[in-house]
Amino acid sequence: MYLKNKKAIVTGATRGIGKAIAVAFVKSGVDVAVFATNQDRLNQMQKELEDIKVDPNQRIITKKVDVSKYLEVEKACLDVITEFSHVDILVNNAGITKDALLMRMSEEDFDRVIDINLKSVYNTCKVLVRSMMKNKKSKIINISSIVGIMGNPGQTNYAASKAGVIGFTKSLAKEVASRNINVNAIAPGFIETEMTQSIPEKIQEQMLKNIPLKRFGKSEDIANMVLFLASDESDYITGQVFTVDGGMGM
Ligand code: NAP
Repeated sequence: MYLKNKKAIVTGATRGIGKAIAVAFVKSGVDVAVFATNQDRLNQMQKELEDIKVDPNQRIITKKVDVSKYLEVEKACLDVITEFSHVDILVNNAGITKDALLMRMSEEDFDRVIDINLKSVYNTCKVLVRSMMKNKKSKIINISSIVGIMGNPGQTNYAASKAGVIGFTKSLAKEVASRNINVNAIAPGFIETEMTQSIPEKIQEQMLKNIPLKRFGKSEDIANMVLFLASDESDYITGQVFTVDGGMGM
Protein backbone atom coordinates (compact mmCIF):
# COMPACT_ATOMS: atom_id res chain seq x y z
CA MET A 1 0.00 0.00 0.00
CA TYR A 2 1.48 3.31 -1.08
CA LEU A 3 1.51 5.89 1.70
CA LYS A 4 4.88 7.58 1.15
CA ASN A 5 4.92 11.32 2.00
CA LYS A 6 1.45 11.25 3.57
CA LYS A 7 1.09 13.14 6.86
CA ALA A 8 -0.58 11.46 9.83
CA ILE A 9 -1.57 12.16 13.42
CA VAL A 10 -1.91 9.12 15.70
CA THR A 11 -3.26 9.67 19.21
CA GLY A 12 -2.15 7.45 22.09
CA ALA A 13 0.79 6.12 20.11
CA THR A 14 3.41 5.60 22.82
CA ARG A 15 2.56 1.94 23.43
CA GLY A 16 0.27 -0.91 22.39
CA ILE A 17 -1.91 -0.53 19.30
CA GLY A 18 -1.10 3.15 18.71
CA LYS A 19 2.63 2.46 18.76
CA ALA A 20 2.22 -0.37 16.22
CA ILE A 21 0.24 2.01 13.98
CA ALA A 22 2.91 4.75 14.24
CA VAL A 23 5.68 2.21 13.50
CA ALA A 24 3.79 0.85 10.47
CA PHE A 25 3.25 4.39 9.15
CA VAL A 26 6.91 5.37 9.60
CA LYS A 27 8.04 2.17 7.83
CA SER A 28 5.71 3.16 4.96
CA GLY A 29 7.35 6.57 4.61
CA VAL A 30 4.63 8.60 6.35
CA ASP A 31 5.40 11.78 8.34
CA VAL A 32 3.93 11.01 11.77
CA ALA A 33 2.82 13.11 14.73
CA VAL A 34 2.24 11.22 17.97
CA PHE A 35 0.02 12.56 20.78
CA ALA A 36 0.09 11.17 24.35
CA THR A 37 0.47 12.43 27.92
CA ASN A 38 3.61 10.75 29.32
CA GLN A 39 6.65 12.85 28.32
CA ASP A 40 9.24 10.09 29.00
CA ARG A 41 7.42 7.66 26.72
CA LEU A 42 7.03 10.39 24.09
CA ASN A 43 10.80 11.00 24.14
CA GLN A 44 11.38 7.26 23.80
CA MET A 45 8.94 7.07 20.85
CA GLN A 46 10.62 10.03 19.13
CA LYS A 47 13.91 8.15 19.29
CA GLU A 48 12.46 4.78 18.23
CA LEU A 49 10.61 6.27 15.26
CA GLU A 50 13.62 8.37 14.15
CA ASP A 51 15.64 5.12 14.12
CA ILE A 52 13.29 3.34 11.67
CA LYS A 53 12.73 6.22 9.21
CA VAL A 54 12.92 5.09 5.59
CA ASP A 55 13.82 8.54 4.28
CA PRO A 56 16.12 11.09 5.95
CA ASN A 57 13.62 13.87 5.16
CA GLN A 58 10.78 12.03 6.90
CA ARG A 59 9.47 14.00 9.89
CA ILE A 60 8.46 12.67 13.29
CA ILE A 61 6.74 14.90 15.85
CA THR A 62 5.79 13.88 19.38
CA LYS A 63 3.51 16.08 21.46
CA LYS A 64 2.33 16.01 25.04
CA VAL A 65 -1.44 16.36 24.65
CA ASP A 66 -4.36 15.23 26.77
CA VAL A 67 -6.79 14.39 23.97
CA SER A 68 -9.80 14.95 26.23
CA LYS A 69 -8.97 18.69 26.43
CA TYR A 70 -10.18 20.67 23.43
CA LEU A 71 -7.78 23.61 23.73
CA GLU A 72 -4.73 21.34 24.07
CA VAL A 73 -5.85 19.33 21.03
CA GLU A 74 -6.53 22.47 19.01
CA LYS A 75 -3.07 23.89 19.69
CA ALA A 76 -1.30 20.60 18.98
CA CYS A 77 -3.19 19.95 15.72
CA LEU A 78 -2.62 23.49 14.45
CA ASP A 79 1.10 23.16 15.28
CA VAL A 80 1.24 19.91 13.30
CA ILE A 81 -0.53 21.53 10.32
CA THR A 82 2.06 24.34 10.44
CA GLU A 83 4.95 21.84 10.49
CA PHE A 84 3.56 19.31 7.97
CA SER A 85 1.59 21.89 5.87
CA HIS A 86 -1.49 19.62 6.12
CA VAL A 87 -2.72 16.33 7.64
CA ASP A 88 -3.95 13.50 5.35
CA ILE A 89 -4.62 10.82 7.98
CA LEU A 90 -6.02 11.04 11.50
CA VAL A 91 -6.08 7.94 13.71
CA ASN A 92 -8.05 8.37 16.93
CA ASN A 93 -6.57 5.59 19.02
CA ALA A 94 -6.03 6.99 22.55
CA GLY A 95 -8.24 5.22 25.06
CA ILE A 96 -8.50 4.03 28.65
CA THR A 97 -10.57 1.66 30.75
CA LYS A 98 -11.86 2.22 34.28
CA ASP A 99 -13.84 -0.95 34.84
CA ALA A 100 -16.43 -1.56 37.58
CA LEU A 101 -19.95 -2.88 37.80
CA LEU A 102 -22.39 0.01 37.40
CA MET A 103 -23.43 -0.22 41.06
CA ARG A 104 -19.82 0.63 42.05
CA MET A 105 -18.84 2.91 39.17
CA SER A 106 -18.10 6.47 40.23
CA GLU A 107 -19.34 9.41 38.19
CA GLU A 108 -15.71 10.51 37.85
CA ASP A 109 -14.70 7.18 36.24
CA PHE A 110 -17.70 7.28 33.92
CA ASP A 111 -16.89 10.83 32.78
CA ARG A 112 -13.13 10.24 32.37
CA VAL A 113 -13.65 7.25 30.07
CA ILE A 114 -16.21 9.13 27.96
CA ASP A 115 -13.91 12.18 27.79
CA ILE A 116 -10.76 10.30 26.73
CA ASN A 117 -12.39 7.70 24.47
CA LEU A 118 -15.22 9.68 22.84
CA LYS A 119 -14.95 13.44 23.45
CA SER A 120 -11.35 13.20 22.17
CA VAL A 121 -12.68 12.06 18.79
CA TYR A 122 -14.89 15.16 18.63
CA ASN A 123 -11.88 17.30 19.63
CA THR A 124 -9.46 16.08 16.94
CA CYS A 125 -12.07 15.84 14.17
CA LYS A 126 -13.53 19.27 14.96
CA VAL A 127 -10.11 20.88 14.68
CA LEU A 128 -8.87 18.94 11.62
CA VAL A 129 -11.89 18.49 9.36
CA ARG A 130 -11.85 22.06 8.03
CA SER A 131 -8.24 21.75 6.90
CA MET A 132 -8.81 18.19 5.59
CA MET A 133 -11.54 19.55 3.31
CA LYS A 134 -8.82 21.43 1.43
CA ASN A 135 -6.93 18.18 0.68
CA LYS A 136 -7.68 16.13 -2.42
CA LYS A 137 -8.53 13.26 -0.08
CA SER A 138 -8.21 12.46 3.62
CA LYS A 139 -8.79 9.50 5.91
CA ILE A 140 -10.07 9.42 9.48
CA ILE A 141 -9.80 6.09 11.33
CA ASN A 142 -11.36 5.73 14.76
CA ILE A 143 -10.44 2.87 17.07
CA SER A 144 -13.64 1.58 18.67
CA SER A 145 -13.96 -1.88 20.27
CA ILE A 146 -15.90 -5.13 19.95
CA VAL A 147 -17.23 -4.18 23.39
CA GLY A 148 -18.98 -1.17 21.81
CA ILE A 149 -20.93 -3.65 19.65
CA MET A 150 -21.45 -6.58 22.05
CA GLY A 151 -21.37 -4.91 25.50
CA ASN A 152 -19.45 -6.33 28.46
CA PRO A 153 -20.29 -6.51 32.18
CA GLY A 154 -18.13 -4.11 34.19
CA GLN A 155 -17.60 -1.83 31.20
CA THR A 156 -20.74 0.31 30.86
CA ASN A 157 -18.57 3.43 30.60
CA TYR A 158 -16.14 1.89 28.09
CA ALA A 159 -18.84 0.20 25.99
CA ALA A 160 -20.85 3.45 25.85
CA SER A 161 -17.78 5.40 24.74
CA LYS A 162 -16.90 2.86 22.03
CA ALA A 163 -20.51 2.58 20.77
CA GLY A 164 -20.48 6.39 20.70
CA VAL A 165 -17.38 6.30 18.50
CA ILE A 166 -19.28 4.13 15.99
CA GLY A 167 -22.25 6.53 15.85
CA PHE A 168 -19.86 9.46 15.54
CA THR A 169 -17.95 7.71 12.72
CA LYS A 170 -21.08 7.01 10.65
CA SER A 171 -22.50 10.52 11.14
CA LEU A 172 -19.26 12.29 10.25
CA ALA A 173 -18.77 9.95 7.26
CA LYS A 174 -22.11 11.16 5.89
CA GLU A 175 -21.25 14.81 6.60
CA VAL A 176 -17.88 14.84 4.83
CA ALA A 177 -18.13 12.20 2.08
CA SER A 178 -18.72 14.88 -0.55
CA ARG A 179 -15.36 16.42 0.44
CA ASN A 180 -13.54 13.13 -0.16
CA ILE A 181 -12.88 12.45 3.51
CA ASN A 182 -13.38 8.76 4.39
CA VAL A 183 -14.29 8.07 8.00
CA ASN A 184 -14.17 4.47 9.25
CA ALA A 185 -13.89 2.64 12.56
CA ILE A 186 -12.04 -0.47 13.64
CA ALA A 187 -13.44 -2.65 16.43
CA PRO A 188 -10.58 -4.72 17.85
CA GLY A 189 -11.29 -7.81 19.92
CA PHE A 190 -8.83 -8.88 22.64
CA ILE A 191 -5.42 -7.46 21.73
CA GLU A 192 -2.32 -8.16 23.86
CA THR A 193 -1.32 -4.73 25.26
CA GLU A 194 -0.88 -3.06 28.66
CA MET A 195 -4.63 -2.37 28.64
CA THR A 196 -5.48 -6.08 28.67
CA GLN A 197 -2.53 -7.25 30.82
CA SER A 198 -4.42 -6.65 34.06
CA ILE A 199 -7.35 -8.93 33.11
CA PRO A 200 -7.21 -11.95 35.46
CA GLU A 201 -5.79 -15.12 33.88
CA LYS A 202 -8.99 -17.10 34.48
CA ILE A 203 -11.06 -14.57 32.52
CA GLN A 204 -8.42 -14.52 29.76
CA GLU A 205 -8.68 -18.33 29.48
CA GLN A 206 -12.48 -18.05 29.19
CA MET A 207 -12.16 -15.36 26.51
CA LEU A 208 -9.72 -17.47 24.51
CA LYS A 209 -12.34 -20.25 24.34
CA ASN A 210 -14.63 -17.78 22.50
CA ILE A 211 -12.05 -16.85 19.87
CA PRO A 212 -12.39 -19.15 16.83
CA LEU A 213 -8.83 -18.35 15.65
CA LYS A 214 -7.60 -19.54 19.08
CA ARG A 215 -5.22 -16.70 19.86
CA PHE A 216 -5.33 -13.16 21.19
CA GLY A 217 -4.68 -10.41 18.68
CA LYS A 218 -1.43 -8.49 18.30
CA SER A 219 -1.20 -4.72 17.92
CA GLU A 220 0.13 -5.31 14.39
CA ASP A 221 -3.16 -7.04 13.46
CA ILE A 222 -4.88 -3.69 14.02
CA ALA A 223 -2.08 -1.67 12.41
CA ASN A 224 -2.49 -3.72 9.21
CA MET A 225 -6.15 -2.72 8.96
CA VAL A 226 -5.22 0.91 9.65
CA LEU A 227 -2.69 0.84 6.80
CA PHE A 228 -5.42 -0.40 4.45
CA LEU A 229 -7.95 2.21 5.58
CA ALA A 230 -5.33 4.96 5.27
CA SER A 231 -4.36 3.91 1.74
CA ASP A 232 -5.82 4.62 -1.70
CA GLU A 233 -6.98 0.99 -1.84
CA SER A 234 -9.84 1.87 0.55
CA ASP A 235 -11.03 4.96 -1.34
CA TYR A 236 -14.55 3.55 -1.91
CA ILE A 237 -15.11 2.61 1.75
CA THR A 238 -16.63 5.00 4.29
CA GLY A 239 -18.82 4.90 7.41
CA GLN A 240 -17.92 1.26 8.13
CA VAL A 241 -16.87 -0.63 11.24
CA PHE A 242 -14.23 -3.33 10.72
CA THR A 243 -14.08 -5.99 13.40
CA VAL A 244 -10.58 -7.42 13.90
CA ASP A 245 -11.14 -10.00 16.61
CA GLY A 246 -10.18 -13.51 15.49
CA GLY A 247 -13.88 -14.22 14.98
CA MET A 248 -14.84 -13.50 18.63
CA GLY A 249 -17.89 -11.41 17.73
CA MET A 250 -19.32 -13.85 15.14
P1 NAP B 1 -2.74 1.10 25.95
O1 NAP B 1 -1.67 0.10 25.74
O2 NAP B 1 -3.24 1.33 27.33
O3 NAP B 1 -2.28 2.50 25.29
C1 NAP B 1 -3.11 3.62 25.38
C2 NAP B 1 -2.43 4.80 24.74
O4 NAP B 1 -3.30 5.95 24.90
C3 NAP B 1 -1.12 5.17 25.41
O5 NAP B 1 -0.19 5.59 24.43
C4 NAP B 1 -1.48 6.35 26.31
O6 NAP B 1 -0.35 7.19 26.50
C5 NAP B 1 -2.57 7.03 25.47
N1 NAP B 1 -3.48 7.87 26.27
C6 NAP B 1 -4.19 7.53 27.36
N2 NAP B 1 -4.87 8.59 27.82
C7 NAP B 1 -4.57 9.63 27.00
C8 NAP B 1 -4.95 11.00 26.97
N3 NAP B 1 -5.79 11.53 27.86
N4 NAP B 1 -4.46 11.79 25.97
C9 NAP B 1 -3.59 11.28 25.06
N5 NAP B 1 -3.20 10.00 25.05
C10 NAP B 1 -3.68 9.19 26.02
O7 NAP B 1 -4.04 0.73 25.10
P2 NAP B 1 -4.23 -0.20 23.79
O8 NAP B 1 -4.63 -1.54 24.25
O9 NAP B 1 -3.09 -0.02 22.87
O10 NAP B 1 -5.54 0.47 23.18
C11 NAP B 1 -5.51 1.43 22.14
C12 NAP B 1 -6.93 1.70 21.67
O11 NAP B 1 -7.52 0.46 21.23
C13 NAP B 1 -7.84 2.23 22.78
O12 NAP B 1 -8.75 3.16 22.24
C14 NAP B 1 -8.58 0.98 23.24
O13 NAP B 1 -9.81 1.30 23.82
C15 NAP B 1 -8.74 0.25 21.92
N6 NAP B 1 -8.96 -1.17 22.08
C16 NAP B 1 -8.03 -1.98 22.69
C17 NAP B 1 -8.30 -3.34 22.82
C18 NAP B 1 -7.32 -4.28 23.46
O14 NAP B 1 -7.68 -5.45 23.62
N7 NAP B 1 -6.13 -3.86 23.83
C19 NAP B 1 -9.51 -3.87 22.35
C20 NAP B 1 -10.42 -3.03 21.73
C21 NAP B 1 -10.13 -1.68 21.60
P3 NAP B 1 -0.15 8.06 27.84
O15 NAP B 1 -0.40 7.16 28.99
O16 NAP B 1 1.25 8.55 27.74
O17 NAP B 1 -1.11 9.19 27.73
